[in-house]
Amino acid sequence: MLYQPPIPSKYTEMRERDLIAAIADRKQRLGRRLVILGHHYQHDDVIQFADFTGDSLKLAKIAAAQTEAEFVIFCGVHFMAETADMLTSDDVHVILPDLAAGCSMADMAEIDQVEDAWERLTDATDAKIVPITYVNSAANIKAFCGGRDGACCTSSNAPQVLEWALRTGEKVLFLPDQHLGRNTAYMMGYPLDSMVVYDPHQENGGLTDAEVADARFILWRGHCSVHQLFTPEQCDQIRAADPAYQILVHPEVPWEVVQKADLAGSTEFIVKTVAEAPAGTKWAVGTEVNLVNRLTKQYADTKVVRSLAGVQCLCTTMYRIDMPHLLHVLDNLVDGRIVNQIHVDPETTALAILALNRMLANVSARPVAIK
Ligand code: SF4
Repeated sequence: MLYQPPIPSKYTEMRERDLIAAIADRKQRLGRRLVILGHHYQHDDVIQFADFTGDSLKLAKIAAAQTEAEFVIFCGVHFMAETADMLTSDDVHVILPDLAAGCSMADMAEIDQVEDAWERLTDATDAKIVPITYVNSAANIKAFCGGRDGACCTSSNAPQVLEWALRTGEKVLFLPDQHLGRNTAYMMGYPLDSMVVYDPHQENGGLTDAEVADARFILWRGHCSVHQLFTPEQCDQIRAADPAYQILVHPEVPWEVVQKADLAGSTEFIVKTVAEAPAGTKWAVGTEVNLVNRLTKQYADTKVVRSLAGVQCLCTTMYRIDMPHLLHVLDNLVDGRIVNQIHVDPETTALAILALNRMLANVSARPVAIK
């Protein structure tokens, strides 16, 4: 995680209505030179200023499609801003309002650990291993995969990318989210005993040579600290209280929760499923609470939408992006200074783009359900 120096107290002490007015003013002054992107998990204070909302890859593609913008403010987390920087031209400056907005899942796969794991796994087997990284990973992990005939995937297209990987190789190393890897491979028909977990904190990843040789999928021991909070018991409780609820979860939740759910799919799949559901339906949704709350409000007149969990499943790093930090970067832009720019070096970008392009060449645009 990067260090974010404290912003001047004049921002943190401003009243809400003054912040809203000031941000709107700076946006207007910067006009078409500026685009603000808001991830679905951002809170409404920030989303109200977003020119576009979406999941991470959708927003990165929107950033790449901008022809007039000089500045893209990415209201999301660090790996998302990196991806946007890699997909945009050198004339576009990508800015993250709070540099400490990292992602606990992305941080669970560090490049030294992944390089050690690769050495260990390729020593243990002669079979071709294809490294696949979820886009929720640092640019250097994407570059690692790009440089070893691997690819990226999103939660929308993970099944299509894994099908491609198993056409080009014999085994998959899946980074950094074990749950997305397990849920996707299981949905594709692979049994749980074809998967092993590589733990970077154990000697040899905690795996014997025989376990590596027998496995089809080697899942990195990483997880999302938000989606990990959903449990099978929550599904049982909701169904016992009201059987009319349909349970819709993100594939970053544990496998046991997906087995109890009616449907599982990416953030975009969740948004689309609720949008297209008939009036009168009830939904218990297992994903980040800001998105669930927004869906609850949006469909309050026609459908019931609630969180699957009784506890607040909030992404605390996403939550770091707030109006004071947004205004701080905007004020600097108005004064001709760029602060909090996210820039990925050209060598890393070139390899990471290979991984992103292999993904894009092998998938359709439509989100694929995991269940
Ligand atoms: S919700 Fe999970 S995967 Fe997404 S940014 Fe937060 S910690 Fe990372």
